[in-house]
Amino acid sequence: MPRPIQALIHAAALRHNLARATAAAPDSRVFAVVKAEAYGHGIERVFDALRGADGFALLELGDAERLRRLDWRGPILLLEGAFEPRDLELCSRLGLWHVIHREAQIDWLAMHKTHQPHRVFLKMNSGMNRLGFTPSAFRSAWARLNALPQVEEITLMTHFADADQGAPGLEASLKRFREATHDLPGERTLANSAATLAQPGPSALTPPGGEPQVAADWVRAGIMVYGSAPDFPARGIDQWDLQPTMTLRAELIATQSLQPGDSVGYGSRFTAEAPMRIGIVACGYADGYPRHAPTGTPVLVDGVRTRLVGRVSMDMLAVDLTPVPQAQPGSEATLWGRGPRGSVLPIDEVAHAAGTVGYELMCALPPRVPVRVEE
Ligand SMILES: *Cc1c(COP(=O)(O)O)cnc(C)c1O
Repeated sequence: MPRPIQALIHAAALRHNLARATAAAPDSRVFAVVKAEAYGHGIERVFDALRGADGFALLELGDAERLRRLDWRGPILLLEGAFEPRDLELCSRLGLWHVIHREAQIDWLAMHKTHQPHRVFLKMNSGMNRLGFTPSAFRSAWARLNALPQVEEITLMTHFADADQGAPGLEASLKRFREATHDLPGERTLANSAATLAQPGPSALTPPGGEPQVAADWVRAGIMVYGSAPDFPARGIDQWDLQPTMTLRAELIATQSLQPGDSVGYGSRFTAEAPMRIGIVACGYADGYPRHAPTGTPVLVDGVRTRLVGRVSMDMLAVDLTPVPQAQPGSEATLWGRGPRGSVLPIDEVAHAAGTVGYELMCALPPRVPVRVEE
């Protein structure tokens, strides 16, 4: 019998969440961001549910090849562009769109021999100081690209540092972007999930002389598609009408009865103050559960909310069975996602308790956990 742990990918939830991105940016096209193995879900596993997107955005060239092998003929954007000159050969061959964020990438393009002029996304550093041209260097980069026969179309792009703060977090970056680009032609893409949700509404239909709105021509929806709220704990998935797309579930493989003074797990980090039952769950940090999750982190047992107790070990963790006295070995433990009888434990709550974000937990699903896709 296989070890009783499993991850489920919920296809209908992926479709629902993608539709939420479309609804929040009704006049924009939507890139579904599938970097990091579709945020841990697996590119092949999400592809069918997300093929309604207008394009896919990712980082690795190998992943772009996988999408083409799935017969995806639509847009694919490389969010960090080429890493070395020969990457451009694959861009030409597969018709990939790619980000240009530094001068060397323009040099490589200028030397690249192709019959297929490229669509490039010129990235501005609007305050995050990670990738992109500063506002003052942006126009000369644009002019260089515009003069290249290898370039067919230039889309203007930036990425917000503080979009999870809501609309006020966008203002400074948006102002820098607009000032540096207002008279440049071309489509625009600015918004990740947080910005798309923070400033929903019509966008690409910018009036002549008007300023592009946040959703602009393309939004780049990542985390919202995977059922995590970009601004948790200010808001959760319920408030954004998003659904969990990944469930991590396991079973109890033992129970223990504790007397006052008995402790649990490595380091004896939890000590019972009264008689209590605990359940031992077949899930540990080698299954992607965060080792730093403290006592009190929510867990569902048979769909009933309870708490983690003691330290998470490699293959197991312990839960308080006080609210679920009927629980036995074989009872279902939901570490995040959907539990029995309509119960839900948002991944954001678990991440928050462990001092991290839903992104990190879903991306860390390891190969030893079997995965099943269901409707
Ligand atoms: C990852 C990424 C996104 C998606 O961000 P979410 O917060 O997951 O929506 C958008 N744009 C760029 C450039 C990215 O790297």
